[in-house]
Amino acid sequence: MKYFLQLLTLLAVLLGCVRAAAVPPRRAKPNVILITIDTVRADHVGCYGATTVQTPTLDALAHDGIVFERAISQVPLTWPSHASILTGTYPFQNGVQDFTGQPLDARFRSVAQVFKQQGYATGAVVSAFVLDRSWGLARGFDFYDDAFSPEVFQQKDIGLVDRKAGESVTRALKWLNAARMPKETPARPFFFWLHLYDPHSPYDPPEPFRTTYRGHLYDGEIAYADHELGRLIAWLNQNRLYDRSLIVVLSDHGESLGDHGEKEHGFFVYNSTVHIPLIVKPPAGSGFRPGRVTTPVETTAVAPTLLRLAGIKDATEKQFQSPTLVGGNAGNENAAYSESFYSFSSFGWSPLHALQTTRYHYIEAPAPELYDVLADPQEKNNLASQQTATVAVLEDKLQALLRQNPFVAYRSPVSPEALAAGLPDPKSKLWEFNAILEAGDAFHAGDFPAGAALLDRVQEKDPQMYIVPFMLGEGAARQQKWEEAAAAFQKCLQLNPNFDQAMTGLSRALVFLGKDDDAAQWARNALKVNPANYRAWYQLGLIESKTDKNAAIVDYEKAVSIQGSFAPLRRDLGLLYFQQKNYAQAADHLAKAAELGVNDAPLYNFLGISYGHTNRLAKAVETFKKAIKLDPRLAEAHLNLGYAYQRLNQVQAARAEYAVACRLESRFCQLAPHP
Ligand SMILES: [Zn+2]
Repeated sequence: MKYFLQLLTLLAVLLGCVRAAAVPPRRAKPNVILITIDTVRADHVGCYGATTVQTPTLDALAHDGIVFERAISQVPLTWPSHASILTGTYPFQNGVQDFTGQPLDARFRSVAQVFKQQGYATGAVVSAFVLDRSWGLARGFDFYDDAFSPEVFQQKDIGLVDRKAGESVTRALKWLNAARMPKETPARPFFFWLHLYDPHSPYDPPEPFRTTYRGHLYDGEIAYADHELGRLIAWLNQNRLYDRSLIVVLSDHGESLGDHGEKEHGFFVYNSTVHIPLIVKPPAGSGFRPGRVTTPVETTAVAPTLLRLAGIKDATEKQFQSPTLVGGNAGNENAAYSESFYSFSSFGWSPLHALQTTRYHYIEAPAPELYDVLADPQEKNNLASQQTATVAVLEDKLQALLRQNPFVAYRSPVSPEALAAGLPDPKSKLWEFNAILEAGDAFHAGDFPAGAALLDRVQEKDPQMYIVPFMLGEGAARQQKWEEAAAAFQKCLQLNPNFDQAMTGLSRALVFLGKDDDAAQWARNALKVNPANYRAWYQLGLIESKTDKNAAIVDYEKAVSIQGSFAPLRRDLGLLYFQQKNYAQAADHLAKAAELGVNDAPLYNFLGISYGHTNRLAKAVETFKKAIKLDPRLAEAHLNLGYAYQRLNQVQAARAEYAVACRLESRFCQLAPHP
């Protein structure tokens, strides 16, 4: 948005109360903390005027920092919005427009890479699987914690795998403590990104927030996330780091809460979902004073602002599309861009593009919309047919923006014929959309018949939507109805032949139907479309492990190189190496699986044996004990513990374990040597 921001003068600037006293002086590099709290509407935060929710941590940061009253998300979806925040590029430029596409292209640099190059220690803790490393946002981070426990994977749909703020903040503090006082090297400045997911649906805050916020649990989630964030700020204060640190807090998008007929976010681009809180607390000595900015700003301005306030100059700045939030020309009229391709990519309906100035919000759609957000902040009164000149000016500006460096490798989920015929306006498809969401909720609640009935009705109304059979396939798979799942995934692929997630689903169903060759082929097809689909590599490895263990190891290793924190993958790869008698590799992967939360006695038994074979006897003992603690009746673990004790010359302890093994399993009575 470089050039037209300066041209856009529809209305005079209201206020520009933040001014730089001076260019940030060159001194020790500040620590930099970026915090994103998912799904927070600006008007549900205290310092933005909310009265029904307590956000003391954010309010205190606002007191010490600069509050951007009109911060606008470029896309109201978690993963695309974070890609914009960390790269400073628009979704239509970096290609990350929704959750059905490809990982972030290697040509886009994240601010984390710049900080790392500048000598910073870089760490991140994310709280939702939708931000896992396979999508490409881990680039530049020395440490990227996207490890979720395998039980969570089993209980939930993958898109809902998350962890609560309390756990994420604890993990964050662990890394920060280590970064502050490293064992070997002298301490470096750190760049840390913390992502909290709690306000995202379903709204289920822990006590006491559940009780305090009964009837408006969404606010309870925000209050809970704010409370946990308070622990991080307290840590900064205790370590005398708060004043000297640059802290930026924002949300990735808001939440509709029923506005305009939308329950959650992503479908529309009204201010309910694109107007977000954004607070910048500069490091002491930066010369910037606390204040409030009322002109629209974009989240793509966060990356340049982080570098600017850290005093870093880097060629990556050429990639950035927005000016910095501070120290730029405060007299400029700003405008902010938003888009959503959710309805297009998932349902084949029209995409939405929008541009907002201080006064107007223009939404480009088959039926265009224009709102005077100063007079009509709820965006209820569409002025597009009355103010055609304003619409024309904003449409020109929007088109000029969209022509700048668009990402080209885009696969349309809609046929050329459908495109030529004109796509439906998402506004006219609310019933279908909400029915799909409701079906998803029914599936999550385990009510498959209700969900499937809703989806059948949607399919009758609009038979061209590939996402409907995809959801039916996922629902059938969760009930282990593999015939039904395979048929649904096949139907999905007829409607959208490029959808690699349906290929992975089909491959999985075919394995259960005993059709391994077809299943392997579909996993390979998925990898042709998306080579970073680690679940497809994992799937292929599972199939090949039955016939060709070496090939399976290659597949699994590929998957690990993309996503090393997927616990079932580490377990299966470790077991494969174990069978190959490659105990060093087996130990590495099995230990990682255990660290990721696979808590099962046989796994610890295999891990202990692997330690034994690689002469790590003390670790072997410790590991067999863990196996026995989990399953005191696991005779193998007692026998192996006996062997380990014997090798350590602990004869008495060895005898005791042999005796238990023999008692549990008579065939082991012969195996025990007589020490
Ligand atoms: Zn989000």
